[in-house]
Amino acid sequence: MNEGKIAEMIIKCPACSIEGVAKSIMNEIEIPHFGKVLETTIQCPSCGFKHSDVIALEQNDPAKYTIEINKNNLSVRVVRSQSATVIIPEVGVKVEPGPKSEGYVTNIEGILTRFEDAVKKALNLFEDEQSQVNAKKALEHLLELKKGNGTATLIILDPFGQSNVVSENVKISEIPKEELRELKTGFYEIEDD
Ligand SMILES: [Zn+2]
Repeated sequence: MNEGKIAEMIIKCPACSIEGVAKSIMNEIEIPHFGKVLETTIQCPSCGFKHSDVIALEQNDPAKYTIEINKNNLSVRVVRSQSATVIIPEVGVKVEPGPKSEGYVTNIEGILTRFEDAVKKALNLFEDEQSQVNAKKALEHLLELKKGNGTATLIILDPFGQSNVVSENVKISEIPKEELRELKTGFYEIEDD
């Protein structure tokens, strides 16, 4: 993976609106067998705001990526755009895009770590017994997968085709119309009919 910084700017922080401290960095990342991805990161030392996003420079169609998570696939490169939904059905976890969701370049192990962090947060947030049991089960399952034990399915649904899973083992399919309609995009939606 080749990385090159192409721009760095000092901007007005989108969170605290303080002028002249937040840094916006733009990186171009070349991903083998995929192409170029533009990664932007905004960091504000004043309020701690941090946000990143990726944009694939080649436009694709809406797509559903399905790959088995197993010990041989943990290092498979994954590009998750801000508007993609990520699901591991066997673990019962799903991340949907929202105004705060981030785009990033990682690998399958990195996706598991992100889910792990999200489940840990949920453990602290929801104190009822059923939530605790479910979260602990999910956490255990994620840890086993990271160790290379067992298998599960990673599904990425991207209505703008900006995400990718770079492996010859990935199955790429169209997103069925009904499913596409129900997908969140992270934008506030306006009905136009
Ligand atoms: Zn700020």
